[in-house]
This record gives sequence, C-alpha cells and structure tokens, in this order.
Amino acid sequence: MDDLRELYQELILDHNQNPRNYGEMDSPTATADGFNPLCGDRLTLYLRMSDEVVEDIKFVGSGCAISKASASIMTTLLKGKTRKEVITLFEMFHKMITTGELPEGGLGKLAVLSGVYKYPARVKCAVLAWYTSKNALEGKESVAKTE
Ligand code: ZN
Repeated sequence: MDDLRELYQELILDHNQNPRNYGEMDSPTATADGFNPLCGDRLTLYLRMSDEVVEDIKFVGSGCAISKASASIMTTLLKGKTRKEVITLFEMFHKMITTGELPEGGLGKLAVLSGVYKYPARVKCAVLAWYTSKNALEGKESVAKTE
C-alpha cells in the first residue's frame, strides 16, 4: 500500500509540475472560470467543441498541487469525449471524490485522487476543474465556485 501511495503521489507531483494541456487557446468555443475561495485555487478553462465532441481542452491557473494535478489529468481524459461522456465522467468523478468509491470501468489515472475524499477541504480543490468544465460545456457565464 505504501508503494501504491508513493506512486500516486508521484503522479500528482508530475502533473503539478508538468501540467498537460496547459496554456491559453486561440479560438475556444467556450470558456469558464473557476475559483475555490477555501484554498485560493483559480483556473480558466478553454473548450473547443466540434459538434458534440471535445476537440480540444486547455487550462491556465494557479493553485495547490491537487487542484492543478486534477485539472491536468482531467484534460487528458476529456479530450475526444462527447458532451454526454463528459457529464457521465463528471458524475463518476464526483462520486469517487466524495465517497472514495471507484466506479466500475474505472477512471484511469483519476483514481490517484480517490484518497482525497478523506479530506473534505481537498475535495473542493479536486472538483474545481470539473465544475468549471461542466459550466463551460453548459455555457454558463458565472464563475464556478466550490462553496
Ligand atoms: Zn487547493
């Protein structure tokens, strides 16, 4: 178990230090901002939808390792997914992060965050990117807040 935990921590550190899909997007079809006042995490999410498919997804922001790693891993997972699949993944992730339950079929690398449910304050860091992308997908103007 310790080895596993170490591996998980390494993956989180890696995504924090070298976030994937990090940067602004030239011509997004949707953007949304997210803010977690409890920790101070902020992010802006860019989406480019092609019909119902996430053609490209990028983010910029500042925050703790959990928020950044979660956003980074999320973008790698959502690229190429349909709007419907994104919502399903959001619900799976939300359940995992609040109960620690791993969904059937798994969430790939996102499973590294399954232990976060034990730390309610950290849950808000982990879900921030997800709430923000859901808002972008639904075309909501307001800032996604975890409070
Ligand atoms: Zn945070």
